[in-house]
Amino acid sequence: MLCLGIESTAHTFGCGIIDSKGKIYANVTDAYKTETGGIHPSEAKLHHENAKDKVVEDALKAANLKLEDIDLISFSQGPGLAPCLLVGMKKATELAKKLKVPIVGVNHCIAHLEIGKLMTKAKDPVLLYPSGANTQVIAYEGGKYRVFGETLDQGVGNFIDSFARYIGLGFPGGPKIEKLALNGKNYIELPYVVKGMDVSFSGILTNLKQKYDSLENQRFSGHQKSKGFFSAKKYKVEDLAFSLQETVFAMLVEVSERAMAHTGKKELVLGGGVACNKRLQQMCRIMCGERNAKFFVPPNEVLVDNGLMISWLGIVQRKQATKDFNGIDIKPYERTDDVIVTWR
Ligand code: AMP
Ligand code: MG
Repeated sequence: MLCLGIESTAHTFGCGIIDSKGKIYANVTDAYKTETGGIHPSEAKLHHENAKDKVVEDALKAANLKLEDIDLISFSQGPGLAPCLLVGMKKATELAKKLKVPIVGVNHCIAHLEIGKLMTKAKDPVLLYPSGANTQVIAYEGGKYRVFGETLDQGVGNFIDSFARYIGLGFPGGPKIEKLALNGKNYIELPYVVKGMDVSFSGILTNLKQKYDSLENQRFSGHQKSKGFFSAKKYKVEDLAFSLQETVFAMLVEVSERAMAHTGKKELVLGGGVACNKRLQQMCRIMCGERNAKFFVPPNEVLVDNGLMISWLGIVQRKQATKDFNGIDIKPYERTDDVIVTWR
C-alpha cells in the first residue's frame, strides 16, 4: 500500500510518499521564506497555493510513480495556521476524490514522533520536539501521546528567530545563531526558566535584547550617540548566541530528562527544526549517556516540517481513513494529547 501525505501547517508545503513497509519513495518540500518578518499566514497560504501542484508532481516524479499508483492520501490536520492547513486539506481531498481512494487527517506533532521511530528503530521513546511554533516533550502513556512538558509561550525556534531578526540576521535564524555561537567563548548569565516540566522563552528574549542594546559606557548623551561615539557593545554578539544556546538547550535537556525519569523510558528521539542544531544534539547525547539511555537523531529532512512523516502516519492510521470527503476538516488547535492512539 502506497500513501501520499501532504504537510502544510506553517511555512512548508511538503509531499511525501511511503509504503506500508516503511519504504521511502519521495520527500519533497517547498518552504516560504522571508527576510524581514515572521510568518504572515496569508502570505504563507499564497506560497502554498502556488507551490502545491508542483510539489506533488515533483514527489511523484522523484518516486517514479504515477498518481494512479497511490492507494491512500493523508494530510496534516493540525496544529497549525488555519489558512495554510486549508490549502493542504483541499489538495489532499482533490487527489483522494480523483483517485477514489480513502483519506485520513493526522496530527503533525505525532507524525514527528512516528517517523522518528520508523527511521531510528526506537521502540518506545520520549520525543523532544523543539520546532518553530511548537516545543514539547512527548511520550506514550495510557492510550495517548502525553505532553510531559511544553513551552508556556512561544516555540523555541520562533524565539531564536526573533532574536536573530533583532540583531539583523534573516529568517530562519536558527542555523545563523548556531554558527555565531561557535565563535562565542564567554558564558553570559541569562534567565533560566523551567517551571515544573514546562519552559518559557519570552523573558529570556527581552533579556537578550536588553543585553544586545547595552553599551560599554552608559553616560553618553543622545546627541553623542547620534554622532557615533556610542558604538562599543558591552557583550559580543557571538557570546550572546553562545549563551542563548547553552541556557535554552539546558532547559530543554532538563525537562526531557525529567520526563524520562518519570516514565522510566530509556530512549530519547529528536524531532523539529531546532533539533538540527549540533550543540543541542550533543547535550542530549551526554544526558542520555549519563543515564544509560539510547539517543536517536533522525535525518534533518524529517526533523524539519515534511510530507514524509505525514504519509507515514497516514499508513499507521490507515484504519481511520474514510471516503466521506465532505466530513473532512482541519484542526488548527488540536493538541497532541487530544488524539486517542488506537494503533499501538
Ligand atoms: P520547523 O518548524 O520544525 O520546520 O523548524 C523550523 C525552526 O527550526 C526555525 O525556527 C529555525 O530557525 C529552526 N532551526 C533550523 N535549523 C536550526 C539549527 N541548526 N539550530 C537551531 N534552530 C534551527
Ligand atoms: Mg514540525
